[in-house]
Amino acid sequence: MPYVLVINSGSSSIKFQIVDPTASASDEPFVSGLVEQIGEPSGRITVKHAGQKYVVQKEVATHAVGLEETFALLDAKGVGPTQLDIVAAGHRVVHGGMVFSQPELISDPVVEMIRTLIPLAPLHNPANIDGIEVARKLLPNIPHVAVFDTGFFRDLPPAAALYAINAEVAEKNLVRRYGFHGTSHEFVSSQVPALIDRDPLHTRQIVLHLGNGASCSAVENGHAIDTSMGLTPLAGLVMGTRSGDIDPGIIFHLYRQGGMSIDEIDNLLNRQSGVKGLSGVNDFRELRTMIDNEDENAWLAYNVYINQLRRFIGSYMIALGRVDAITFTAGVGENDKHVRADALDNMRMYGIEIDPEKNDLPNDGPRIISTDNSTTKVLVVPTNEELAIAQKAARLASQIR
Ligand code: ADP
Repeated sequence: MPYVLVINSGSSSIKFQIVDPTASASDEPFVSGLVEQIGEPSGRITVKHAGQKYVVQKEVATHAVGLEETFALLDAKGVGPTQLDIVAAGHRVVHGGMVFSQPELISDPVVEMIRTLIPLAPLHNPANIDGIEVARKLLPNIPHVAVFDTGFFRDLPPAAALYAINAEVAEKNLVRRYGFHGTSHEFVSSQVPALIDRDPLHTRQIVLHLGNGASCSAVENGHAIDTSMGLTPLAGLVMGTRSGDIDPGIIFHLYRQGGMSIDEIDNLLNRQSGVKGLSGVNDFRELRTMIDNEDENAWLAYNVYINQLRRFIGSYMIALGRVDAITFTAGVGENDKHVRADALDNMRMYGIEIDPEKNDLPNDGPRIISTDNSTTKVLVVPTNEELAIAQKAARLASQIR
């Protein structure tokens, strides 16, 4: 069975999976794992395979050590990358800037190009490069493929991509809308036409990726025409801990009047805001329990979240003109029936109507949850970014063989 090794390397962690690229989105990966707290005294390697979980607590000095130790652990279980038929490694790379739209076969010049994009993703791209370099050394005989989180949005129309700030300053600093979660938006939107029995080249849709991070996109005939995240993943919808769109003047106000430093404001908006900032929790299961217990702040947080979501849905309906499908995905979108019902409540006059019974069914693969009368179909389609990366890497690898 040919597998793909999928690597998502962060600044102090490496997430990895060994995936059958022909699997379905809800299948468990063949092997999955996580190396945590790299560079700290208390490291941990977790590996899952065939329903078993193995945890090793030990210091992991570097990404290289982490991946080597993990491969040794997998070897001992008989599922090491060199013991399996691995046809490619797929690497998640957060920022492809205006350079990369498609998955790219990794070579030294490609790594250098990803390095030049570090100013756009100073926390993520260096960690992604670490993962790529370590994996290329350990597995030199397979193709390595970079898949970019921004790729699907690389060709947004200029009217959606440009910010109305001084053009020279914007250009010099590479300031524009790049969008993120592109692998998920593409994976989900590409499944929708078949599910609603439409020609992909004549399908206009909105995708709502609602996880801890959240973003939405408008997709016309397979191409993204707008998305809610921007230069950074802080923009757009209200998220678990991120503010989403706010008046940019708030930043000056907090700096000048609030006496906060830029780093403190960065931390506030990225980690202490969103649903957590308003209610104290970022997990929607906890939020629902608090709402059920009549917690005022939880109710407010939920309403701010829904209000912002409806603003984006409305503006994308106008941008698309006709909407064939609205699709919910990711942790909240796939599992939270309240969010789905409230996001599209009272839209029958626009041809959008959720069937409460279908909406109540538990998460079980791609499904339509709108009524038969709803001219815009409403769907839930589980996302699986690792599987999407594996499919892209396997496709590129088969082209070069
Ligand atoms: P990430 O953005 O970290 O990839 P996910 O897409 O996995 O996140 O989404 C995680 C979030 O999904 C959790 O923080 C939680 O709010 C939400 N979630 C997961 N399961 C459920 C559920 N059964 N009901 C409601 N919300 C859920």
